[in-house]
Amino acid sequence: CGIVGYVGPNSSLDVLIAGLSRLEYRGYDSAGVAVIDSDGHLGTRKHAGKLKVLTSDLEATPLSDGQTGIGHTRWATHGGPNDSNAHPHLGDGGKLALIHNGIIENFSALKQELVDLGEVFESETDTEVAALLVGREYRATGDLTESMRRVVARLEGAFTLLIVHEDSPGVVVGARRNSPLVIGLGDGENFLGSDVAAFVGFTRRAMEIGQDQIVTIRPDSVLVTDFDGAPVEAFEYEVAWDA
Ligand code: GLU
Repeated sequence: CGIVGYVGPNSSLDVLIAGLSRLEYRGYDSAGVAVIDSDGHLGTRKHAGKLKVLTSDLEATPLSDGQTGIGHTRWATHGGPNDSNAHPHLGDGGKLALIHNGIIENFSALKQELVDLGEVFESETDTEVAALLVGREYRATGDLTESMRRVVARLEGAFTLLIVHEDSPGVVVGARRNSPLVIGLGDGENFLGSDVAAFVGFTRRAMEIGQDQIVTIRPDSVLVTDFDGAPVEAFEYEVAWDA
């Protein structure tokens, strides 16, 4: 339901939690984060319930923080609201994390294909097929953007997806079809959000991402391409917001 992504010099967890709390107005049943820490390890934490359940757990048992991360609030469509169905979902043996807003209409056929290939599912969501597929493509290509491109070509329905992989620190890749995604431009840092509320506490400079487009953010660069890989010109605008 709500999505936030961050790459930059600051604490990802602080940015993600601030973004998720600004997205709370949309309603949700679960919340979760994934962060690549400064040693290059991916850590995730997720819980059913209010954001407070997640933040209390993070206070009691801190997650190793870092400069690349993604955060999600879920409104369940496939699989009940519990901890294992909460996002992020993992791929590539736990090295990749993915969050999703929307519905992947053809998930059953993809799930059967993955089960036949020996993949093990840990949730009842439609989302987990995307995490496992991107993980497999990353193993084949070693390129996060290319992996996303190959997978979105196979998905039907509505999706905003964000992915991070511990072997690609400092990179968050997003994609959208029939579901919103916006870029927030910072100084040596960049943001992604399902709406500008996700990052408006940090920057007012934003860029729209069009239908069927992929975005790759790094601390000092933003690249937008279409689903075929052709570069797209994205236009910057100033967010008007009384916070
Ligand atoms: N369909 C996904 C799920 O049920 C994502 C729901 C959402 O948009 O939050 O997990």
